[in-house]
Amino acid sequence: MLKIPQSAYAALRQHGEETYPSECCGVLLGHFDGSGSKTVLGVARCGNTRADSPHNRYNIDPKELIRIQREGRERGEDILGFYHSHPDHPAQWSTTDLAEAHWFGCSYVITSVEKGKAVLTNSFELAGTDESDKKFLDEETEVV
Ligand SMILES: [Zn+2]
Repeated sequence: MLKIPQSAYAALRQHGEETYPSECCGVLLGHFDGSGSKTVLGVARCGNTRADSPHNRYNIDPKELIRIQREGRERGEDILGFYHSHPDHPAQWSTTDLAEAHWFGCSYVITSVEKGKAVLTNSFELAGTDESDKKFLDEETEVV
Protein backbone atom coordinates (compact mmCIF):
# COMPACT_ATOMS: atom_id res chain seq x y z
CA MET A 1 0.00 0.00 0.00
CA LEU A 2 1.33 3.39 -1.04
CA LYS A 3 -0.31 6.31 0.76
CA ILE A 4 0.25 9.53 -1.09
CA PRO A 5 -1.07 13.00 -0.30
CA GLN A 6 -3.21 14.67 -2.93
CA SER A 7 -0.61 17.43 -3.41
CA ALA A 8 2.22 14.99 -4.19
CA TYR A 9 -0.05 12.88 -6.38
CA ALA A 10 -1.05 15.95 -8.38
CA ALA A 11 2.57 17.12 -8.57
CA LEU A 12 3.93 13.91 -10.08
CA ARG A 13 1.06 13.71 -12.59
CA GLN A 14 1.54 17.35 -13.57
CA HIS A 15 5.27 16.72 -14.03
CA GLY A 16 4.41 14.12 -16.67
CA GLU A 17 2.20 16.60 -18.49
CA GLU A 18 4.93 19.26 -18.45
CA THR A 19 7.62 17.02 -19.94
CA TYR A 20 5.31 15.43 -22.53
CA PRO A 21 6.15 13.98 -25.03
CA SER A 22 9.29 13.09 -23.04
CA GLU A 23 9.20 10.99 -19.90
CA CYS A 24 9.47 12.72 -16.56
CA CYS A 25 11.08 11.12 -13.53
CA GLY A 26 11.39 11.78 -9.85
CA VAL A 27 11.71 10.38 -6.37
CA LEU A 28 9.12 9.59 -3.68
CA LEU A 29 10.18 10.53 -0.15
CA GLY A 30 8.56 9.65 3.16
CA HIS A 31 8.33 6.87 5.71
CA PHE A 32 8.20 3.08 5.56
CA ASP A 33 5.37 2.10 7.91
CA GLY A 34 5.76 -0.99 10.07
CA SER A 35 2.92 -2.78 8.31
CA GLY A 36 4.68 -2.90 4.97
CA SER A 37 2.91 0.15 3.64
CA LYS A 38 4.58 3.43 2.80
CA THR A 39 3.54 6.99 3.47
CA VAL A 40 4.73 9.55 0.94
CA LEU A 41 5.44 13.01 2.34
CA GLY A 42 6.75 14.63 -0.80
CA VAL A 43 8.18 14.14 -4.25
CA ALA A 44 11.41 15.44 -5.74
CA ARG A 45 11.60 16.16 -9.45
CA CYS A 46 14.61 14.92 -11.38
CA GLY A 47 15.89 15.78 -14.79
CA ASN A 48 15.68 12.95 -17.32
CA THR A 49 19.26 12.34 -18.45
CA ARG A 50 18.22 10.06 -21.31
CA ALA A 51 18.71 12.57 -24.10
CA ASP A 52 19.01 9.74 -26.64
CA SER A 53 15.50 8.40 -26.13
CA PRO A 54 13.58 10.60 -23.65
CA HIS A 55 10.13 9.60 -24.96
CA ASN A 56 10.44 6.04 -23.71
CA ARG A 57 13.37 5.93 -21.30
CA TYR A 58 14.29 7.68 -18.13
CA ASN A 59 17.38 7.90 -16.04
CA ILE A 60 18.13 9.76 -12.85
CA ASP A 61 21.63 11.19 -12.46
CA PRO A 62 23.24 9.31 -9.52
CA LYS A 63 24.63 12.59 -8.16
CA GLU A 64 21.16 14.10 -8.16
CA LEU A 65 19.79 11.00 -6.43
CA ILE A 66 22.43 11.17 -3.71
CA ARG A 67 21.62 14.85 -3.11
CA ILE A 68 17.91 14.07 -2.85
CA GLN A 69 18.64 11.20 -0.47
CA ARG A 70 20.81 13.41 1.73
CA GLU A 71 18.29 16.25 1.81
CA GLY A 72 15.55 13.74 2.62
CA ARG A 73 17.53 12.30 5.52
CA GLU A 74 17.98 15.79 6.93
CA ARG A 75 14.18 15.92 7.18
CA GLY A 76 13.99 12.35 8.49
CA GLU A 77 12.62 11.01 5.20
CA ASP A 78 13.65 7.94 3.25
CA ILE A 79 13.51 7.24 -0.47
CA LEU A 80 10.31 5.17 -0.90
CA GLY A 81 10.50 4.80 -4.64
CA PHE A 82 10.48 6.49 -7.97
CA TYR A 83 7.99 7.82 -10.46
CA HIS A 84 8.04 8.30 -14.19
CA SER A 85 5.60 8.83 -17.02
CA HIS A 86 4.66 6.86 -20.10
CA PRO A 87 3.83 9.31 -22.90
CA ASP A 88 1.08 7.71 -25.02
CA HIS A 89 1.64 4.31 -23.43
CA PRO A 90 -0.26 2.46 -20.69
CA ALA A 91 0.52 2.88 -17.00
CA GLN A 92 2.15 -0.54 -16.90
CA TRP A 93 5.79 -1.41 -16.31
CA SER A 94 7.92 -2.39 -19.28
CA THR A 95 10.64 -5.03 -19.41
CA THR A 96 13.12 -2.13 -19.48
CA ASP A 97 11.54 -0.69 -16.33
CA LEU A 98 12.03 -4.03 -14.56
CA ALA A 99 15.58 -4.48 -15.87
CA GLU A 100 16.54 -1.00 -14.61
CA ALA A 101 14.80 -1.31 -11.21
CA HIS A 102 17.15 -2.18 -8.36
CA TRP A 103 15.55 -0.78 -5.19
CA PHE A 104 13.87 -3.79 -3.57
CA GLY A 105 10.81 -3.02 -1.51
CA CYS A 106 10.48 0.37 -3.16
CA SER A 107 7.57 1.64 -5.23
CA TYR A 108 7.71 2.40 -8.92
CA VAL A 109 4.88 4.73 -9.87
CA ILE A 110 3.96 5.07 -13.53
CA THR A 111 1.56 7.63 -15.01
CA SER A 112 0.23 7.29 -18.52
CA VAL A 113 0.09 10.64 -20.32
CA GLU A 114 -2.11 10.62 -23.39
CA LYS A 115 -1.84 13.57 -25.77
CA GLY A 116 -0.37 15.64 -22.96
CA LYS A 117 -2.97 14.77 -20.28
CA ALA A 118 -2.18 12.54 -17.30
CA VAL A 119 -4.62 9.61 -17.28
CA LEU A 120 -3.90 6.57 -15.09
CA THR A 121 -1.35 6.38 -12.28
CA ASN A 122 -0.33 2.92 -11.06
CA SER A 123 2.19 1.77 -8.50
CA PHE A 124 4.32 -1.38 -8.53
CA GLU A 125 6.51 -2.66 -5.73
CA LEU A 126 9.83 -4.27 -6.63
CA ALA A 127 9.76 -7.68 -4.92
CA GLY A 128 12.42 -10.35 -4.67
CA THR A 129 15.91 -10.56 -3.26
CA ASP A 130 18.28 -10.12 -6.19
CA GLU A 131 18.47 -9.62 -9.95
CA SER A 132 17.55 -13.25 -10.68
CA ASP A 133 14.18 -13.34 -8.92
CA LYS A 134 13.06 -9.72 -8.94
CA LYS A 135 9.57 -8.89 -10.09
CA PHE A 136 7.00 -6.11 -9.94
CA LEU A 137 3.88 -6.61 -7.84
CA ASP A 138 0.77 -4.47 -8.26
CA GLU A 139 0.62 -2.06 -5.33
CA GLU A 140 -2.54 -0.41 -4.10
CA THR A 141 -2.37 3.38 -4.07
CA GLU A 142 -4.37 5.47 -1.65
CA VAL A 143 -4.55 9.20 -2.21
CA VAL A 144 -4.98 10.82 1.20
ZN1 LIG B 1 8.55 3.00 -17.95
